[in-house]
Amino acid sequence: MERDDVILQVKSLKKYFPIEKGLLRRTVGHIKAVDDVSFEISKGEVLGLVGESGCGKTTLGRCILRAIDPTSGQVILRTHEDDTVDITRLDKKQMRALRKEMQLVFQDPFSSLSPRMTVLDIIGEPLWAQGVRGKALESQVKELASLVGLNTGHLNRYPNAFSGGQRQRIGIARALATNPNLIVADEPVSALDVSIQAQILNLLQDLQEKLGLTYLFIAHDLSVVEHIADRVAVMYVGKIIELAETETLYLNPKHPYTEALLSAVPKPDPRLQEAQIILSGEVANPADPPSGCYFHPRCKYAKDRCEQETPELREVLPGHFVSCHFAEELELEGVSL
Ligand code: SF4
Repeated sequence: MERDDVILQVKSLKKYFPIEKGLLRRTVGHIKAVDDVSFEISKGEVLGLVGESGCGKTTLGRCILRAIDPTSGQVILRTHEDDTVDITRLDKKQMRALRKEMQLVFQDPFSSLSPRMTVLDIIGEPLWAQGVRGKALESQVKELASLVGLNTGHLNRYPNAFSGGQRQRIGIARALATNPNLIVADEPVSALDVSIQAQILNLLQDLQEKLGLTYLFIAHDLSVVEHIADRVAVMYVGKIIELAETETLYLNPKHPYTEALLSAVPKPDPRLQEAQIILSGEVANPADPPSGCYFHPRCKYAKDRCEQETPELREVLPGHFVSCHFAEELELEGVSL
């Protein structure tokens, strides 16, 4: 389905890490961290990208930002000038010029901020790189700081004077400084105390609504993205196995792995908590995945065909993509939002 106003198109993206052995470091195999992933994000949309740790979601985010080079595929970004650019083809200099269009909100607000820079310098760094100086720089930093709820009287302090939640606000202000077309938020609340997580999620949501931001929002569980994401993509062993509008995916999942992830989403009233589906076995090894459907050793609905044939990600209902041979037949349990 063609989407309007697409900001980001990811096409058949792969990132394979070679496994080298012996003195001559011969390549004996590959870890398929991202394996033929395609999706789009429209302007002002929030796409949640969810999966267990090691499923490839962070590697995918890093390929999109060109923090690492993908093995193959395309990452096409629409710029502020309304050009479309395949960033996988840019050299370092061209990439530097494009950095302002895409920003990252890091997972760990403790290690991602330089302890030797003041908050004014940290938030102002991307503006400085764009040639903003003096009073103009200071006033833009103050504006960004108040936008994210920081005390503008504390900008000459160093990061160690701030709590985890305040540091994440600093990181968000810095990410906003260049007015980016796309923000990749990589587990932005998972390193924070539970009591602070909701505040930062609310802030990200408020900013998205106020400024019309576009996020790729990476998280390891579905409870984090339920209120912020317009659509959710679920990843398993380097592949997207289900992608749908958030409400559809939560109420009417069509992949057994999504059903299992949903059963772990905490309900406000514990009496309404359905029994959690405990998946047997380990997450498949991306260096040596199982035959057929990668999920078949853990899937309670698996049939003979699942061991032999790899299911394609296909559109089973408008806008609802699933990689399961039996997506139309299975009656899976969802959860209400
Ligand atoms: Fe389960 Fe088979 Fe569907 Fe894979 S294809 S999710 S093993 S039912």
